[in-house]
Amino acid sequence: MPDYLEEVLGACAEDDGELADYIPELASADPDRLAVALTTLDGETYAAGDADERFTVQSISKPFVYALALADRGLDAVLEAVGTEPSGDPFNEISLEDHSGRPRNPMINIGAITTHSLVGTPGCTVEERFERVRSGLSAFAGRELEVDERVFASERAHADRNLALAYMVSSRGIISEDPAVLVQEYTRQCSVVVDVRDLSAMAATLANGGLNPATGVRVLEPWVCRQVLAVMATCGMYDAAGDWLSSVGIPAKSGVAGGIMGALPGQVGLATFSPRLDGFGNSSRGVRICERLSRDMGLHLMSLP
Ligand code: GLN
Repeated sequence: MPDYLEEVLGACAEDDGELADYIPELASADPDRLAVALTTLDGETYAAGDADERFTVQSISKPFVYALALADRGLDAVLEAVGTEPSGDPFNEISLEDHSGRPRNPMINIGAITTHSLVGTPGCTVEERFERVRSGLSAFAGRELEVDERVFASERAHADRNLALAYMVSSRGIISEDPAVLVQEYTRQCSVVVDVRDLSAMAATLANGGLNPATGVRVLEPWVCRQVLAVMATCGMYDAAGDWLSSVGIPAKSGVAGGIMGALPGQVGLATFSPRLDGFGNSSRGVRICERLSRDMGLHLMSLP
């Protein structure tokens, strides 16, 4: 398996796209880093390339925090605040449903900021809520994850767009807390540091119905995973979600630091890292690697067994 993964990296080495530069700290990343990892449901992780390279989870945190909100508040309460329709818009768009005023889905920023507010027991402190997020992400990964304080500070200083989104949901009465504090905490969530092994273990936990296959810890109930995977499949790759579902066919989520995480239910978790992004904000080489893995290993959700 490691030889095969090296071969895939070699075949997808050619790069294009641009580093994310709206968070200054991300623009200083080494753009040439390239890594892939795959975790089977018997808990084995295989990796190749710059697999020890660490980066911030960014939007890949969104499906996991959605999962925690579902587990903590139940499906109805979460659906009341955030919908499940693909927006067809870029990740930072003001995408609210006309009839309900809800953010369209939890995979775009406006929905993810709202989702963060639903984690933890009602009435818990901001610190307790963030600890639930950090320890929840850690349980998916199977090791204790921490925040990159430099990226956090950098993004906090350039959060006008996300603040605008949070004030928008506040004006619709969807959140009742201080939008500025909520954006700060969402930004902290995005600044959690991972590597491709962590992401593929996190993906494998989703693919395995919520049981981390490496640690044996039950992180989620199967119904939560089903809901999260369904929303990832339709909304995870932003306005490229339809192309992705037809060409790769794996529920997935990308992040602006260059990570992609994909979870094929009952089969495998996988992750890639390459910082240059395409026009949709998805890692250029990551998309090609996932296309290749899907084709080679027959991982497309819609193909016959
Ligand atoms: N932290 C980023 C933001 O909120 C996450 C975006 C992303 O990874 N696409 O703007």
